[in-house]
Amino acid sequence: MAIVQSAPAAAGDRRRLVLDSPVDRHRIDEVEVSTADDVAAAVARARAAQPAWAARPVAERAAILRSAIDVLVARRDEIIATVRAETGKPQTEALAVEIVPSCDFLAFWTHRAPRDLKPHRQPLHGYLKPTKKLFVHYQALGVVGVITPWNGPFVLSLNPVVQALLAGNTAVLKPSEVTPRSGEWAVKILHEAGVPADVVQVVHGDGETGAALVAAEIDKVCFTGSVGTGRKIAAACAERLLPCTLELGGKDAMIVCADADLDRAAAGAVYLSMFNTGQVCMSVERIYVVDSVADEFIRLVSKRAAEVTYGPGDTDMGPLFWDRQMDIVAKHVDDAKAKGADIVVGGAPAAGNGLYFQPTVVVDANHDMEIMTEETFGPIAAIMRVRDEEEAIRMANDSQYGLSGSVFTKDADKARRIAAQLHTGSVVHNDASVIYGVPEAPFGGRKNSGLGHVNGLDALRGFTHPLPILIDRWQPKQESIWYPYSD
Ligand code: NAD
Repeated sequence: MAIVQSAPAAAGDRRRLVLDSPVDRHRIDEVEVSTADDVAAAVARARAAQPAWAARPVAERAAILRSAIDVLVARRDEIIATVRAETGKPQTEALAVEIVPSCDFLAFWTHRAPRDLKPHRQPLHGYLKPTKKLFVHYQALGVVGVITPWNGPFVLSLNPVVQALLAGNTAVLKPSEVTPRSGEWAVKILHEAGVPADVVQVVHGDGETGAALVAAEIDKVCFTGSVGTGRKIAAACAERLLPCTLELGGKDAMIVCADADLDRAAAGAVYLSMFNTGQVCMSVERIYVVDSVADEFIRLVSKRAAEVTYGPGDTDMGPLFWDRQMDIVAKHVDDAKAKGADIVVGGAPAAGNGLYFQPTVVVDANHDMEIMTEETFGPIAAIMRVRDEEEAIRMANDSQYGLSGSVFTKDADKARRIAAQLHTGSVVHNDASVIYGVPEAPFGGRKNSGLGHVNGLDALRGFTHPLPILIDRWQPKQESIWYPYSD
């Protein structure tokens, strides 16, 4: 998606986002930018609608949201068409990465919510045990501002919005300026399922609109995006002591042990670093392979990477989504080349008008290179040889990021031993990336990769205030500690 911001033609006109296809740069859409006043008005409507929404039993909210699965399935072709127009994703990826997990999230959270949000009694252990009972209620926070990126524009918008709503909040979504219509679908299907219009709304625009949403009278921010923006949002939230969840960038390491199934590891290395054109927060961005198997692994990876088809139509790999990504990917590859890495496959933008970059394999990368230290977000398998697994663990941990990671070995116990030493948000054995699609897994980043969790059994409760209520079992005339102390 190339993006141009048009200036208002006349006083009173809104700014517009003009969207061009990343496949061939033809004009596909224009979207009106929401002003700060529009954002404040949306938040005011959301606040007015929240008490009635929260007053509905959670099972009723869950039933409405569950029926969004049928709407989603019925509308899937239109959603896929929008996502593909805005991002250029291949059909299979749009279906497998946007639609299927969205259905699963809706099914999972609507099933869990009535149980997880039900007030419950918590046993007491101490001196109050004979006289009091403790209950915990889960109160909605109010209005949640959800700000999302372009790389999973539908699913990453839908998942937090669904959780916020189930917990009794209302929500205002600001999808990425590059994929506004894909994000908008997340709200549309909920409206079509019966969620009242003001309970979930969408506003459009770039960082300015996002900042206006953070500054509005909301009660929580749920942000998915880059580290730089995450920092700005955290700073704005700190001023107001506003809770925020930050799901940020990554530089995920894949460790290939000497006993790995090398065919699977090579196929995984190529797919997991290149699907969605490498534009996945949990993409494999760094590969550490133990020296004794490195030559064979590199041979297999190179062979597979050279077979990845790309371009418009029915290919394996779509384009980068916008020019900004093209610049970053090209810069990281050039930096690696200049510092002595070997580019054994690809390494350059593809010929033509679209934003295609060749599937690329970089060998003998090291930590002086941006390709091993900064988030690249491109179709690059960057490989570094390491002496042994200890060195692989050390190198994997030598990163400002800690979103996810993977270990390839035939030995499951070894995989767990290595995983337990990694300073990262999650680890997958003989696979990667798949973890975001596992709602039971508490998904969230460490270090610069984020704060808080969007998945996991406590994620729903993160959209609430857990309210402890101490209730009398029996009432002594007065507590022994109360005045007068002379007694
Ligand atoms: P981005 O930070 O540029 O933008 C994300 C969103 O924030 C957009 O909607 C944008 O308009 C908005 N925004 C920008 N400036 C803002 C501001 N000052 N205040 C409020 N909102 C603002 O990120 P991006 O380029 O859209 O997304 C790619 C990044 O997202 C990558 O780093 C990727 O790793 C990360 N990501 C993380 C996860 C995760 O779950 N951890 C998932 C997907 C993407």
